[in-house]
Amino acid sequence: MNEKLERFLERSREIHDLTEIQQGLEWDQQVMMPRKGAAQRGAQQAALAGLIHARLTSPELGDLIRTLAEEDGLDETHKADVREAKRAWERATKIPARLVTERAQACALSQVAWEEARHNDDFEAFRPHLEKVIALTREMAAALEAPNAYDALLEDFEPGMTEEALRTLFGELKPELVTLLDKIKGAPNPPSQEPVLRHYPRSGQEAFSRRVMADMGYDLGAGRLDASAHPFTSGTFADVRITTRYDENFLNMALFGTIHETGHALYEQGLDPDRYRDPSGQACSLGVHESQSRFWENLIGRSRPFWKHYYAELRKAFPGVLDDVDLDAFYRAINVCQPSLIRVEADEVTYNLHIILRFELESALLAGKLEAGDLPEAWNSKMQELLGILPSTFREGVLQDIHWSAGLIGYFPTYALGNLYGAQFLEKLREDLPDLNERVSRGELGPVKEWLNTRIHVHGRRYLAPELCRKVTGKPLSIRPSVAYLTRKFGEIYGF
Ligand code: ZN
Repeated sequence: MNEKLERFLERSREIHDLTEIQQGLEWDQQVMMPRKGAAQRGAQQAALAGLIHARLTSPELGDLIRTLAEEDGLDETHKADVREAKRAWERATKIPARLVTERAQACALSQVAWEEARHNDDFEAFRPHLEKVIALTREMAAALEAPNAYDALLEDFEPGMTEEALRTLFGELKPELVTLLDKIKGAPNPPSQEPVLRHYPRSGQEAFSRRVMADMGYDLGAGRLDASAHPFTSGTFADVRITTRYDENFLNMALFGTIHETGHALYEQGLDPDRYRDPSGQACSLGVHESQSRFWENLIGRSRPFWKHYYAELRKAFPGVLDDVDLDAFYRAINVCQPSLIRVEADEVTYNLHIILRFELESALLAGKLEAGDLPEAWNSKMQELLGILPSTFREGVLQDIHWSAGLIGYFPTYALGNLYGAQFLEKLREDLPDLNERVSRGELGPVKEWLNTRIHVHGRRYLAPELCRKVTGKPLSIRPSVAYLTRKFGEIYGF
């Protein structure tokens, strides 16, 4: 291997190792750290962030990237390494240090203000903070010198995706979902969610979740399951930890939350052992990551074949609780669809409408067509348009998500992309494994994991997400597989 490439990979791997330490500290903070340790941890994180920034922007790394970017002899994988490192290097060097610090401070304050404002249901208290975050985000987008401000932000979360492409996808998706939702609302025999709202002791939930995780192929020797206030997945390759949260009176929360996070974890555990520390060996994008979690949570975990196998076991895990509920009623109960105000509680049909709402608002904010003070009204009018319901509080409306307060603008679309990619991957998986349903209904989840491992995980970010989608499915990303899947599934459940 040429000496420059070797040095470049060495530097890149060191940066990766430092970001893994960052994640480890973050995990510890959420799961284990004593409350009084917060200030100390803040100082540690700041020191580490400074170290990583210095490594990322070092002139030596910049020189190596520039030289290697012009070299002809690199293979496809190393070209992708250089492409990925170049993007990170440019982002780290184009944004002035003053702006990075100012924005980090504004976001920290804004998150505290958001929490309080949400608690008091007081949008006006949050507004000045949000104004500041938006102004600094616009400034950051300008510093990145992209022709389109929203595209510049998207690059952080979903490289290769553009505002224009999202506008087209979501523009097609919106009327399809609104029509489907109208049919569901008019259905004469809606399913009842009551069976999942019974009492499910936490110990049983945890034991059952662990059983499903193991069947999915999650390696507990290379991970762990803990509880935290907000579920998340942390780490990569041989140390991938997930967290969940339990509600003894709502089965779905821990059960589907754990399956979701395990989907993320399988992606990280499935990265190429020789490349997971390299720039192109890491997970492709947030959208593709979310496609993995939602694939398992919804397309597999909320499917009838899955419960054909697991329902008897679930009943055994909670003796007596589901005696009067047959498989069909249970399947319908976990798939209830109804317009609701809160995104994180939304079902498979309405979820993407929540995302489209946020995307349209963000994109107007970035284009200067909307200001922070206009958000509550704009929010409500879009809720009315898309879901036909109105929040009576800010808490259930514009103040519900943490993202904007944290400066995460351009992040929301990746959730919807995850749903779309997932459905398109499932279509291809069915072609490759025609007896998928039979296998899943026998509890054989191994072939699903293996397919995802070899088609998606092992590539890391050798290809940008739109190209990965074409490589895996032979087609560009489209809303069709998702719309067809939802129409079939919910048509059967709601009888139209
Ligand atoms: Zn997720």
